[in-house]
Amino acid sequence: MTAAPDALTEAERTRILAKSARFDPPAATLADGRRDVVGLSRDELAAELAAIGEAPFRARQVWHWIYHQGATDFAAMSSIARPTREKLAERFVIGRPEAATVQTAADDTRKWLFRFRDGQEAETVYIPDPVEDRGAVCLSSQVGCTLACRFCHTGTQILTRNLGAAEIVGQFMAARDAYGEWPSPKGETPRLLSTIVLMGMGEPLYNYANVAKAMTIVMDNEGIALSRRRITLSTSGVVPMMDRAGAELGVNLAVSLHAVRDDLRDELVPLNRKYPIAELIAACRRYPAASNARRITFEYVMLRGVNDSPADARELVRLIAGLPAKVNLIPFNPWPGSAYETSSAAAIARFSEIVMAAGFSAPVRTPRGREILAACGQLRSAVGARAGS
Ligand code: SAH
Ligand code: SF4
Repeated sequence: MTAAPDALTEAERTRILAKSARFDPPAATLADGRRDVVGLSRDELAAELAAIGEAPFRARQVWHWIYHQGATDFAAMSSIARPTREKLAERFVIGRPEAATVQTAADDTRKWLFRFRDGQEAETVYIPDPVEDRGAVCLSSQVGCTLACRFCHTGTQILTRNLGAAEIVGQFMAARDAYGEWPSPKGETPRLLSTIVLMGMGEPLYNYANVAKAMTIVMDNEGIALSRRRITLSTSGVVPMMDRAGAELGVNLAVSLHAVRDDLRDELVPLNRKYPIAELIAACRRYPAASNARRITFEYVMLRGVNDSPADARELVRLIAGLPAKVNLIPFNPWPGSAYETSSAAAIARFSEIVMAAGFSAPVRTPRGREILAACGQLRSAVGARAGS
C-alpha cells in the first residue's frame, strides 16, 4: 500500500474545505422561523429536540418516522402523543425539494428538476433496471460545477453553490416519494430505488462535508438503511479528498479518467493539471474501500478520434494493472452546442475487447434517457452560463 499523503496534502485538504465554504447552502430555516429537520445528523436532531425539552428517545422516534416511514408531516407520527406532535410542528418542518419539472423517457428513466428553498435548481435522475425491480438514483451535489470538463454539459454552468445535506438527501427522498417506496425496505428486501450514484451535477469531493453528511444519513440503519456498498461516489479526481472519503464513508469509488495521457487529460478534465494521472492512480491504489468484491470503476467517455484508439486502450490497461478495477465505457452523450462526437460502435467494441483481454470487465454503458437530456453529462439547470459557453 502506498504511504498516506503528507503534510502538504493536509494543507490542500484544508484549502479545499475552506473554498467550498464560500458556496454554502442557505440556512435551513423558513421565513416563519421553523427549522427543516431533514439533513440534521442524529446528534444535531437530538440537540434540537433537547432544546425544546424533549428526551433523547424522541430523536430516535422522529428519525424513524422521517427516514424509515418517510413521514413528511408530524401529524402522521402516530406513536407520538398529539400535544408533542403539535409542539414539533410549530417549530420544525420535514422538507422536500419542490419538483419544478418531471420528465419520463421512453425507457422509463425519469428526470426531476428540483427547486430548493432559495430558488436554486438541480437535476436528479432515476434509472430503473430494464428487467429487475431495482434501479439507480443519480444525485447532484452542486448547482453547476467549478471544473469545466470539455465534454460535460454541467461544466458549461458556473458553480452557483453547494447543495446542503438536506438537499442531497432530499433528492433521494423526493424520488422515493414519487415511487411510493416507504417505509424503507429492510435488509436485503428488493428496492426499486436500490442504489445511489453521486454522478449528477457537480463534483462531490468539492462539497465533501455536505455529501458525507447526506450519505451518513442515508446509510443509517434505523432509517433509509442503504448499505455503503450500494453507494458510488464519482470524482473527476480530487486526490486529497479521495483518501478521506474512503476512510470515513467507505462507499464505492468511480473515477472519471477519460484519457490516459496527461496532455489530453489536461485538456478534457482540466483538474488534471492539479492532480495528474500518476497521482490519481496512486490515490486509487490506496483507496481503502476497494477490493476484488468492490472494484473501483474507471469511467471513460468515448470521444470519436480523441481518446478511443487501441493504443489508448492498451495504455489504460497498463495504468490500472493490479488494481481491483472495472472500466465503464460511456459513449459520449451529446448536448446542445457540444464539440465532440460519439465514437463509432466498432471503435468502442475494439477498445472494450482490449481492456477485457487484460482481465478487466469493460461494459459499454447503454445511454439512458438521452432524449430528455438525462444521460451522463447532460444535466444542467438554467442559471449561470460560463463565459464562452
Ligand atoms: N463530477 C463528477 C460526477 C458527475 S459526472 C465526475 O466528473 O466524476 C458523471 C460522469 O459522466 C462522469 O464520469 C463524467 O465525466 C461523465 N460525463 C460527463 N459528460 C459526459 C457526456 N457528455 N457524455 C458521457 N459521459 C459524460
Ligand atoms: Fe464537473 Fe464532473 Fe462535469 Fe467535470 S464531468 S464538469 S467534474 S460534473
